[in-house]
Amino acid sequence: MELFDLTGKVAIVTGGSQGNGQAIAYGLAQAGADVAVVDINPMDKTREMVENTGKKCLTIKADLYNIHEAKSKIIETTMSEFGRIDILVNNAGIQRRNPAMIFTEKDWDDVIQINLKAVFILSQAVAPIMQKNGWGKIINMASMLSFQGGLYVPAYAASKGGVAQLTKAFANEWAKYGINVNAIAPGYIDTSMNTALIADKERNRQILERIPAGRWGEPADLIGGAIFLASHASDYVNGHILCIDGGWMAR
Ligand code: NAD
Repeated sequence: MELFDLTGKVAIVTGGSQGNGQAIAYGLAQAGADVAVVDINPMDKTREMVENTGKKCLTIKADLYNIHEAKSKIIETTMSEFGRIDILVNNAGIQRRNPAMIFTEKDWDDVIQINLKAVFILSQAVAPIMQKNGWGKIINMASMLSFQGGLYVPAYAASKGGVAQLTKAFANEWAKYGINVNAIAPGYIDTSMNTALIADKERNRQILERIPAGRWGEPADLIGGAIFLASHASDYVNGHILCIDGGWMAR
């Protein structure tokens, strides 16, 4: 399993206090990486999970709305604590739901800031460090809404469409430096982001009907793909959007 071994690597996972980011931080640690977790919320649970694997966990409280301040804190703290950055998982994301005609400019700006601009700024910050090492992995969180427009989520759909394109743009420029930039596009995963959808019986039924696997995904379903995209196993994979969706996109 050497191809998937992350021993000696350092990963940064944003939005790692819960949900998908927490599962990915834990999964990367299980594969051998030390992990720096970034969030605005407490990360104690994630720290406990990572440390239980025997790996080191650094928790960095930072608000990606203040992206430039957050960027400096994330890079400086990780470098001073671990001395290197090999993997960046741009996982933090937010959702705002409202019909497009009444969707506010504030909601638009907030979603684009966290879901798209923070991905651009943080990737830009780690790329020179990875370039010096001649190896690095950036994993972005795309979505089914990188491909589809969805309903009542215009900013989220625009941000995730942007994430998919940004993934390819970065991949094209940085592949020659040994930096692989790819994305995971999760299907419908049971996290706090989807509490409203799960509670809406009609929408929940419609969603389940379209998922060939016949169930909502769990954050842990993303771990295998994350380890693949973070490891040598994906060294010749560039600009790929990996759907982990129980077959949603195949339907
Ligand atoms: P979640 O709400 O459980 O997790 C989001 C995390 O981001 C939280 O820990 C939150 O505190 C953090 N965060 C939010 N704003 C932040 C900020 N300003 N600064 C720092 N951290 C901040 O949701 P999730 O479902 O685990 O989402 C994680 C990623 O997966 C997101 O990018 C989301 O778009 C993506 N995704 C989720 C699904 C799904 O079905 N759940 C599907 C496709 C993509």
